[in-house]
Amino acid sequence: MAVLKTDTRRWTIPAIGLLAALVVGLSPLQGRWSQPLEDWLQRGVAPLQASEGVLIVDADDRSIEQLKGNGSWPYTRDTHALLIDGLRRHGARAIVLQLLLAERRDTVDGQPAAGPVSAGRTADGRLLDDSKLARTLAADGAPVVLAAAGIEPLPPPATSDADVPAQRWQAMLLPAASVQPAATGALRLGVVTTTLDEDGVLRRMPLWHRGDGRTLPGIALAALFAAGGSVDSTWPTDTQGRVRPLLAPLGSVARISYHDAWTLGTGDAALTPGGRQLAALIRGRVVFVGSSALLAGRSMTVAGQSDSMEIAAQSYTALRDDRLLRPAPAALQALLVLLALTPALAAALTRTGTRWLLAGSALSLVLLLGAAVWLMHTLTISVPLAAALTALPASLVALLVQQRREQNKCERRLAFEREVASQASVAKSAFLANVSHEIRTPLNAVMGVADLMATTPLSPEQRRHVEVFRHAGQTLGALIDDLLDLGKIEAGKLELHPEAFELRASVAAVEALLRPRAGLKGLAFELDIAPEVPAWVLGDRRRLEQALTNLVGNAIKFTASGRVALRLGVAASGALEFEVEDTGIGIAPEQQKLIFEPFVQADDRVSRDYGGTGLGLAITRATAQQMGGSVRLRSRPGQGSSFTLTLPLPQALAPAATPAPAPPLPAGSAPAAAPYAGAVLLAEDNELNVYIVRAMLAGHVGRLDVAADGREALERLAAGHYDLVFMDVQMPGMDGLAATRELRRLEAEAGAPRTPVVALTANAYDEDVRDSQAAGCDAHLAKPVSRAALLDTLQRYTSKA
Ligand code: ADP
Repeated sequence: MAVLKTDTRRWTIPAIGLLAALVVGLSPLQGRWSQPLEDWLQRGVAPLQASEGVLIVDADDRSIEQLKGNGSWPYTRDTHALLIDGLRRHGARAIVLQLLLAERRDTVDGQPAAGPVSAGRTADGRLLDDSKLARTLAADGAPVVLAAAGIEPLPPPATSDADVPAQRWQAMLLPAASVQPAATGALRLGVVTTTLDEDGVLRRMPLWHRGDGRTLPGIALAALFAAGGSVDSTWPTDTQGRVRPLLAPLGSVARISYHDAWTLGTGDAALTPGGRQLAALIRGRVVFVGSSALLAGRSMTVAGQSDSMEIAAQSYTALRDDRLLRPAPAALQALLVLLALTPALAAALTRTGTRWLLAGSALSLVLLLGAAVWLMHTLTISVPLAAALTALPASLVALLVQQRREQNKCERRLAFEREVASQASVAKSAFLANVSHEIRTPLNAVMGVADLMATTPLSPEQRRHVEVFRHAGQTLGALIDDLLDLGKIEAGKLELHPEAFELRASVAAVEALLRPRAGLKGLAFELDIAPEVPAWVLGDRRRLEQALTNLVGNAIKFTASGRVALRLGVAASGALEFEVEDTGIGIAPEQQKLIFEPFVQADDRVSRDYGGTGLGLAITRATAQQMGGSVRLRSRPGQGSSFTLTLPLPQALAPAATPAPAPPLPAGSAPAAAPYAGAVLLAEDNELNVYIVRAMLAGHVGRLDVAADGREALERLAAGHYDLVFMDVQMPGMDGLAATRELRRLEAEAGAPRTPVVALTANAYDEDVRDSQAAGCDAHLAKPVSRAALLDTLQRYTSKA
């Protein structure tokens, strides 16, 4: 079921891409969004070289200035007649006069005619300029096209009429009858006006125009006719009979000024080198005559701003050379959409990830643009790319959304698993604490009895047995401590208790504990403390000693002969470096990382030959990290190991007056001056523990009363005075802490002196110690408790009391 689900899900991405492509492709968005890219491609691909076979004669500002003598602008019609003569004489192929000669002008040689005119002449028989032009048009030589203009465009008809499709106009402006040649066949007209696209850009040119009941060719088509060409039925026209010529930017058609061309007509410039050059430009070309003066006739085209002569000349060459844009057939468009969808389809098929889809999409984009350029360049086909280009980001977005959703799902699952794991860890910590408590109670009894037996007269063999008891008990106690530490590490609850302490004293304590053990194995024990090591530092003394005991203990344990060294120095960083080096069995390289994991030993033989649990290094490393330090290991199997513990312990000032710490009591022996208390109360529900404590305190208390729970303890305290209370914490009914709190409250109420209370408990976590202090206990003894510790406490509180 799951497989089926993921299977359908991976097709979602190409499906969304396809949907996006369809929405865009079948709506007007396709044209609108594709247009800028099509224009851009057209600009990049359009011919940049000069168009061949055409020439522009421009009545520019300078020409108008120079020809002022022949009458002001617009020129009189004889000026044009002279120009046409010249162009013909120098071999122009056809002439397109893009000047609207709409009204009749009665001038003779540029001067207004005096008196009435008729039949193109003045009263004194002089030929009007308009007539001169009409005669020139009808004369032999290159054909001349005159401009007509449409007025007020009309929308295309709902149903196409029988004729060719044409641009419709309300009315048509034609040249004045006075300039039209007498023979009707000699009049050639071309319409110079055209409509723009919605964005004001000229992209399409109608082939035909219709208005006032007549159909006229557009200026470019009229020029083609004049040059001897004809309509090609394969031209790609739209429903309104328009074509899209590929236009080059303004300036790509050769251009001379009207004045220069006119001078050629007058004959006086023909022999100069400049004149010959001009004449060469005219020969065989279709000449477009117009005016760019005062920015007349400018339009925005795909290739930029152009003037009407340039647009007409380029449109003419586009028709002549068939450089017309063709719309892409629907099948081609579909193919391009498929190309755009290929990466998403491939990703779905091969189950590849985002990176491949991104790379595939980039490749697909390049291919799409490449195809578009190629199609435009070689086949002049314009492809609308909007649909295909929408498919690409749509698939990518779909993929990202899908991934985001899957990531969210994954995060939720991880959060759930973390929650389960953290609950499991809490449960484990609680379990460890319980087990530790349950083991400590009987262990207390075992150790207690062993302690008691050690104080009685024993045969040497019995004494050895007792020693075995005590040693095994201590090992078990240490294991429980390690397990508790591990539980705290895994629950992230390992706490440090920094204090200022004397470093050398700590190292000496470790040495005192372990040097005898090294001695027993015949190992040399070297201790070297560099002089720059500070005397007092700030840190958790107990944890440092625990780590050092672990490392040095291991060094002794895993070394059969040679030496064990503990060196203390200061690293360049200022941190303290404790190096523990041995000449022991060493550790194989592949084991060197693993042994820092809990319960890992280098190999199976280790536990058989050396014992241990594999917890020591895990605890040491966690402690070091908690202190902001680290443990490094260098070792060669068979040659020895070196563990370096680096700890950034800041230097501390020696406290002003340090009370001399009480020297530790040798295990099993009672303090020198025997302590004594008149009355002691023991609150303890476990009979075994009562028996042990009673036995340990025998001879040191006048009276030992026992209460089975907190309530009974309070009753006894109310009934009489006690020098000291040993208070078990976990008891049925009212527990030890509640009883202590109540006792402190009652004492405060009555203003009575404070009875010392020592918590006696198998709860050994740091927070247990804090809890008992908070409840009002004076001290905290963790089980198993030795006779020495019990008597020491007795002495401390009874001597105070
Ligand atoms: P344990 O000593 O209780 O086995 P540790 O965590 O202290 O647990 O050590 C893990 C393992 O690392 C040891 O069992 C032993 O294989 C290896 N090891 C530690 N210290 C040394 C050493 N100084 N020389 C050789 N092996 C060592």
